[in-house]
Amino acid sequence: MCAKFALHATKCDAGRVKSWSSPEIPSVSGRGKRPTVFCTSHRGPADTPRKLKEARLYVCGITPYDATHLGHAATYVAFDVLFRTWKDAGVDVTYAQNITDVDDPLLERADAIGMDWRELAESQIDLFRSDMELLRVIPPDAYIGAVESIDRVVDAVTRLLDKGAAYTLDSGDVYYRVGTRIEPPFGSTSHLERHEMLELFAERGGDPETAGKADPLDPLLWRAERAGEPAWDGGRLGAGRPGWHIECAVIAQDHAGLPLTVQGGGSDLAFPHHEMCAAHATALTGVNFAKAYMHVGMVGYEGEKISKSKGNLVLVSKLVEQGEDPMAIRALLLAHHYRSDWMYTDPLLAESRERLAAWRAAARSGTTMDAAEEILEDMRQNLGDDLDTPAVLDTLDEWADSVGDDGTAEGTALVVDAVDALLGITLR
Ligand SMILES: [Zn+2]
Repeated sequence: MCAKFALHATKCDAGRVKSWSSPEIPSVSGRGKRPTVFCTSHRGPADTPRKLKEARLYVCGITPYDATHLGHAATYVAFDVLFRTWKDAGVDVTYAQNITDVDDPLLERADAIGMDWRELAESQIDLFRSDMELLRVIPPDAYIGAVESIDRVVDAVTRLLDKGAAYTLDSGDVYYRVGTRIEPPFGSTSHLERHEMLELFAERGGDPETAGKADPLDPLLWRAERAGEPAWDGGRLGAGRPGWHIECAVIAQDHAGLPLTVQGGGSDLAFPHHEMCAAHATALTGVNFAKAYMHVGMVGYEGEKISKSKGNLVLVSKLVEQGEDPMAIRALLLAHHYRSDWMYTDPLLAESRERLAAWRAAARSGTTMDAAEEILEDMRQNLGDDLDTPAVLDTLDEWADSVGDDGTAEGTALVVDAVDALLGITLR
């Protein structure tokens, strides 16, 4: 058993929800650079130690009702590249990810299609796992569901009540008090003005209008049982189910350990989700939740951000079903810097397919050892600079254009292994 609420989690916790199988990662000679990454909270480069030896990575997982669209894929592939870059630099990484396997969007979707919410969650988690395998994403050490963490959430919410950092409404719902004094203070993750916070809170699952709250921004910690909704024993809290932010705060602490080196997710999670996770965890432990917050840009399609509610999903599984090579999808994602917002189009995917074909042709030719070593050095340099994958892909294009008759199989093998280990793209 792992120590409960240990600040430094160990890797002993596999969790009830199974993750997926890991791709093989070839070893590549030499050592890469520890990457300098952009942190939302610092509004600039994160102050990660230059000699970082151990990293704790927590990436917010899916709510399993619309897996796995290209926006999800972009997020998990981006953090996969961070994981690979850290590994290449000799950093020991503990990686945890959650699955919000009970929450309003999942219950609403299950209700709309007349399916049991548990079956819907299970089928979508299955799909997510197989998509991650196809995209050659390295699985987290701990892949943990909200449902299996309910006892831990109940414990955390009860302690927040005892500390005066939470309160219960007449409905039985428990809310976190954003006015709780913590250091760093509420707002230091996202740096938004209050009017911006109020707007985003309403847009992204918050309930500023709920009567009786101390502050409209106070987020739900525990939702008291409602007729027709699943509920669990909450001890003193009464029967109910967990709020989303406290779920991640608890799972991150239990399974990655605090402070996190990086808390990651899509840019739409910066507020309220990551701000609230940080506030909850800091109020509980007195420890700063994360040293850096990394946010991945949004992928759009037909002029809108990809989402179930917009009805414009581009699913990895559908593209693969239509015959697409998952490596062309991965290359397309990496062709965009992880922080940029971009629009998916079919011609972009076709370009990526051609690009991959050119690299595969180069992988069948010879490469001089000098050129191969230069390519590896260049890849490491660019990944070290805030994971600049578009620059890495440009280097590979140049390699594909320049292979001649003077190379060797050994040189080519070095490039192919580096592309596999660092970018997760297999050219064999
Ligand atoms: Zn989260």
